[in-house]
Amino acid sequence: DENGEGGEEYLFKVVLIGDSAVGKSNLLSRFARNEFDANSKATIGVEFQTQVVEIDGKEVKAQIWDTAGQERFRAVTSSYYRGAVGALVVYDITRRGTFDSINRWLQELTTQNDSTIARMLVGNKCDLENIREVSTEEGKSLAEEEGLFFMETSALDSTNVQTAFEIVIREIYNNIS
Ligand code: GDP
Ligand code: MG
Repeated sequence: DENGEGGEEYLFKVVLIGDSAVGKSNLLSRFARNEFDANSKATIGVEFQTQVVEIDGKEVKAQIWDTAGQERFRAVTSSYYRGAVGALVVYDITRRGTFDSINRWLQELTTQNDSTIARMLVGNKCDLENIREVSTEEGKSLAEEEGLFFMETSALDSTNVQTAFEIVIREIYNNIS
């Protein structure tokens, strides 16, 4: 099924953005391989992973890009954003600074890419309720202001990971069909 089945084929580029260590790489590995790495290092070395999702009976391929540590140097390149039609903009609910960075990431996304992008604000690490620094309400209202989908996730215990990616992929599909 690598080559589809002769019908329409969809390939959507989706980018993960957000500060270092918010859990981008683990969200991707949870979604694509159902794996979590407690000791994950900044560089995993994988540019993107392709995941097949079925929407309305159609096979949709999502090519999901991970920054592989570039965010440390504020050096996410323009080729990273090029052609993206979806984005998960991720912060860590236990570190307010990562939430404060969201506007900068949104701005960068807008500057680097002029097409319609399905955007989801993701508050990751919701398993760490006891050390939460950003309330669910704050996440919700930022998302409303900026016109984004919103979801709190945990790559550790799998909460909403599948759902977050699938909502973005479905929205992209809706945007083009
Ligand atoms: P990235 O730099 O944004 O790619 O972040 P990573 O995926 O490398 O994760 C950074 C650290 O946070 C690692 O130690 C992960 O194990 C941890 N982490 C990632 N997601 C979660 C989560 O949902 N819950 C908890 N408790 N830890 C997480
Ligand atoms: Mg990473």
